[in-house]
Parts: sequence; structure tokens; C-alpha cells
Amino acid sequence: MSEARLPDPSQIDGLRLGVDRIDNEILGLLAARRELAIEIAAEKRRVERPLFDDQRQRALMTERLAAAESHQLDPGLVSRIWEHILDDSLRVQYQTLQLEWGGPRHRIKAAVQGVEGSYSRMAAREFLGSESEDATFVSCARFEDATAAVVAGRVDIAVLPIENTTSGAIAEVYDLMLNCGLFIIGEVKLLVRHCLLGVPGATVSGLRKVYGHPQAVAQCTEFLLGLPDVEVVYFEDTALSGRHISEMGDVTVGAIASEEAARLFALEVLEAGVGNREKNYTRFVVVARDPITVDVAVPAKTSLVMSVGNEPGALMEVLAEFRDHDIGLVKLESRPTADNPWEEMFYLDFDGNVDDRGVAEALDGVRMRARFMRVLGTYPSRDLRPRKLSRTQEPRKAAVMTPAPSVSPQEVSAGHRLASRAHKEDDSVVEVRGVRIGGEQLVMIAGPCAVESWEQVMACAEAVKRAGGSLLRGGCFKPRTSPYSFQGLGYEGLEMLAEAGRVHGLPIITEVPAPEHVERIARFADVLQIGTRNMQNFALLAEVGRTARPVMLKRGMSASIDELLHAAEYILSGGNQQVILCERGIRTFETSSRNTLDITAVPVLRGRTHLPVVVDPSHAAGSRELVAPLTRAAVAVGAHGIMVEIHPEPEKALSDGPQSLRLDEFAELMTSLGHPSPTASP
Ligand code: PEP
Ligand code: MN
Repeated sequence: MSEARLPDPSQIDGLRLGVDRIDNEILGLLAARRELAIEIAAEKRRVERPLFDDQRQRALMTERLAAAESHQLDPGLVSRIWEHILDDSLRVQYQTLQLEWGGPRHRIKAAVQGVEGSYSRMAAREFLGSESEDATFVSCARFEDATAAVVAGRVDIAVLPIENTTSGAIAEVYDLMLNCGLFIIGEVKLLVRHCLLGVPGATVSGLRKVYGHPQAVAQCTEFLLGLPDVEVVYFEDTALSGRHISEMGDVTVGAIASEEAARLFALEVLEAGVGNREKNYTRFVVVARDPITVDVAVPAKTSLVMSVGNEPGALMEVLAEFRDHDIGLVKLESRPTADNPWEEMFYLDFDGNVDDRGVAEALDGVRMRARFMRVLGTYPSRDLRPRKLSRTQEPRKAAVMTPAPSVSPQEVSAGHRLASRAHKEDDSVVEVRGVRIGGEQLVMIAGPCAVESWEQVMACAEAVKRAGGSLLRGGCFKPRTSPYSFQGLGYEGLEMLAEAGRVHGLPIITEVPAPEHVERIARFADVLQIGTRNMQNFALLAEVGRTARPVMLKRGMSASIDELLHAAEYILSGGNQQVILCERGIRTFETSSRNTLDITAVPVLRGRTHLPVVVDPSHAAGSRELVAPLTRAAVAVGAHGIMVEIHPEPEKALSDGPQSLRLDEFAELMTSLGHPSPTASP
């Protein structure tokens, strides 16, 4: 007979039954409390009340503490318990209001860089919460592959690390956010807790080699220095270093990875928390093809990317917009722009929702002052701290495109809000490497219709420079009316144009024929030209809207002024505020000229929009004799610039010879416009 069979003379078992019963009651009550919190969230949404009510929270806590005393409970204990309860309430309320993203969140496909056990994968799981059970995770080798998978529609979201509290911004991901065209729909802050892992039986003192990702190793230097006999070996991926040592099965080899990786690869945690800093967080962003709408009751953050001019105080003026609207900035990061060393891109995170009126107004102000501004997304903030939310804010849909109060209903219905004078009273000046288009000075742009050879483009560039022109033009991709006409030299021509511009100190402008060429052409060209045949190529307009390069939008040959402004709006609403309009002649019944220069369009446009207006008399005229008189007319009605075609030997030109000025004719035209004649200059 064993001792265990003896009946327990004490009442412990009976009392324990009582405790179990009470605990079950507590759990039942917690669940019921949660249900009420969800109902409150729905009601708050209905009456548009903020989710966080600081006063209510404080009052509640005071009451609970008073009640604790009357029950003779430790107030410290009670306050700790209720902190957790309130936190849980907020979380469920917040989840309830967040069900809007892309409909029901199930069977999500998420792309991450890294395998199971990687921090990115953990972040993705945390973001999806219970939906991660039936989610599919796609491992990508590079961040770029993860965003490309979203763009192509192979997955719904990508989860990317963007900054770490120890090692700082992850530049590659910031650059991707600018270029990939996706929107931020959420963020995850993950406490990164590095552990030293080993195979079963391994000990810290027995280790001779430790594998680790360079980032992870850099975050654990202090611990590793304490292991003098250990050789550190870099490994490409944190989680994979765990898998690697598991496969080796060697007790003298360890890895730095997560606890999750230990579980996954049947390893042991030899020492937990080996990072230099106890609080080492990585912030991840969750990106998707479409932006989400966040209920105004949910504390939200908005991220945007922008560039401003080089003028002193330009950044300050933009930031003042946030101060003036009482919006807290939580992050400002700057990155140099690729291929544009004189320009910085600024990434801003601020407390607020694009659907808040104050935010929409501040963003309008930013747009007015920035060269480029794109909202990357509004998403629920993961900082569950109470914050000030205005009771008066009205829910507004898609503020990126919604009318600001200053815009008259007619302008909104006309569909060109950002281009309108009501949005911006003062003329916009588009600055291209020191050349100001839209200011007082008439800007002369000249060059060949098409780049044909190095000699030809160099001769033109020299003539432009010598006569006092400001920009060199040249078509490299020629979308011609006939497929049998010369189609341009493509990128080879673009290199020639760029080199000729560089030699003569002239910024260059060239046409972008299709969306897929925009990124590559933007690396060389200072201004991107949208040709008349492409004015309503909306995919192309959207693409140049995403770049930070100035764009010259030529009026469609059969397009109304209204349609031209709508087309400009596509670019502006895409983020790019540097749009120049170009009148180049329209189709009429008149046949004596190639097109009819709509000279009226210039003062009409100047009245309706703040954007600079340039006139191209060459394509309007079709013959060189008409270029000088049309130029004078354009100047007289207020054009900010003139763009003309020139050629050293127009008779031999591969395109538009009859309308191209000879180089000496161009010099004469320039002199007649008051530019110093070449002979007069020293
Ligand atoms: C040009 O400027 O090179 C050109 C092709 O003009 P458009 O698009 O106005 O015909
Ligand atoms: Mn031409």
C-alpha cells in the first residue's frame, strides 16, 4: 500500500476546488467584460467618439483603487491587474474597429524576407493575430522580392523591418517605400530578444563557434566579448543560422537567434537575452496594394514621403504646417535620392489620420510647399498610449483626394483641385537645377526633335548654351504617327543627350513613352516630358506622379483645357507637385499650319492654375517661318517659357525637319527676345 493512496486529512483539496471555481468565475467575468468593451467600441464608432477617453480611464482606476481598499486588497496589485484589463479592452476595441482592411481577413498571403523563425515572420504573425493560423507565408530572399510579390498580386501583404532601436533606420526599406508604389496599412513593434542557441547537450562554456547574422552579432557584442574562446561566424539569415547548427548537430557550435527558432529547430536556449540592450525593438511596416481607411476613433499614424526645395527654411516651412495644426511628428528620417545627389527625401510619421480635417489641411499646406509629397498610408498606431483626439473631427473619406474647405464646389466638380488657383494662389515655380520655370524670367528650351547622333546633339547643345537658352531638349523615344517613321535612338540617345547637357551645363528634358520606362529615364533626365499622344495615358501619368522629377505635360492635340488640367491632376495627386503645362497646338479645321496654336489657352491657364505654362510653337506651326512670330505672341500673352526645335541641318533631320530652326536662326530668335547676341558676348 503506497502513501499516496492515504486520504488527505486536511481540507486543502476542498479549498482548492473553491479557488478553481472562483478562477473560472473570474475568467467568465473577464470574457463578459470583453463583450461589453466590443459593444462600446461599436457604439463609439456610431456616435464618432474617440476610442480613448483619458478622463474615463483615470476615473475608473480611481474607483477601482477605492473599492480595493474597502475589500482590503493591495492597491498596487489591483492597479496592476486593471492596467492589464484596460489594455486588453483597448486592444479588442481597436481590433473591432479595424476589420475594414480588405474585407474579412482570412487566408491572407504574406511575404516576408526570411524563413520560419525569423523576426519578420514573427512580426507578420503578430500583425495577423488569430488570422495567422490560416495565413500563408512566402519567404523571399530580398525585401525587394517581397514588395514585388505584393505588386504582382501573388500575396496580399509584405511585412518589412524599417528601423531598429539599436541599429537605426533600414535604408533599403525606406528607399523601397518611395519606389514600390505600395501603401503602409499597419505597423508592428517587436521586442527583439536574441538568444544563444545550441543543440541539446551543448553548454555555453563548451562552444567554440557561434553563427549569427551581422546585424544580430552587432547587437550582441558585449555578450560575445565575454566568450573569448569562441569564433564568431557570420551567417546570412538569423533563423537559418539556427537551422544550420541544428543540422550540424555539433555541441561546440552555437547560434544567435530567437527563442522561436530554438523551438522550431529543436535547439536549446543556452542563454536568453544576450543583446547589448534589454530594450531592443524593431519596427516593421505592413504594406499592401491599396491604402486602408482607419476609423477616426482609432489612434492612427500617417506616414508620408516628400522633398522640398533647396531654399533656406524650406523644410522648416513645411514642418510648421504640422505645428500649426497641432499635429505631433513622431519621426523624421532623411535619405539622399538616388541619382539626384542634391536632393533629399524626407520621411515623416505623425500622429493623425488623413481623414481628420486638421491633417487634410496640413497636407494641403505641405503639398503647396513641397516639390513632391506622397502619403504612404494611415494605419492604426501600435502605441496604445492615450492621446488627444479632437471631439469635433468629422470622418472624411480618402482625404488624399477630398476637397479642402478652401476649394469652391465648382472646382471640385471640375476635378482639378490641386492644379487650381484656389488650392494655391501664388504661381508655382518649378526649379530645375537652378533654372526657375514659372518665375519672372522667360525660360528658353531648345534642342533637336530627336537625338540622331553625338555630333548633332552636341552642336545643338552648344548653340543653346551660346544663345542663352536654359534647357536642352531631345527626343530619344519618338512615339510617331507612323510605325515606319524613325522611332528614336532610345537609351543610347538618352546617354548622348545627358552627356551633351553635362558638357554644356544644361539640364535636359526628354519624352517618356510608357510607364515601364519612367524609372530608368528619370535617372538621366532632369524633366520628363509627356507627349501630346500620351496626355491621357493614365498609367503613365500615375507613374510620373510617383517620381520626384519635374514633368512637362503637353496638351493632347484634341484635348480641351479642362482635360489638360485633369491630366495634370493625375500627376499632382500622385505626389509630384512639379508639373509644367505645355500648349503645343491643337487640331482644328485649318490646314495652313500643322496645328493651330491655341494662344488663348495661355491666359486661360494662367487664370485657372498656378502651374507654369510653356508654349511649343514648333509643333503648332509645322514650318520654321512661323516659329518666331508665334514665339513673340506666346511671350506677349504671358507664357513662362518657350520650347523650340532646332537642328544643324534641318534638311537631313530624321524627324520634324521642316519646323526645326537652323542654329543661326535660333540665335537670331534669342537676340530678338533680348538675350545677348553671341557676337556681343565676351
Ligand atoms: C516633342 O516635343 O518631341 C513632341 C513629340 O511633341 P508632341 O508630343 O507635342 O507632338
Ligand atoms: Mn518634334
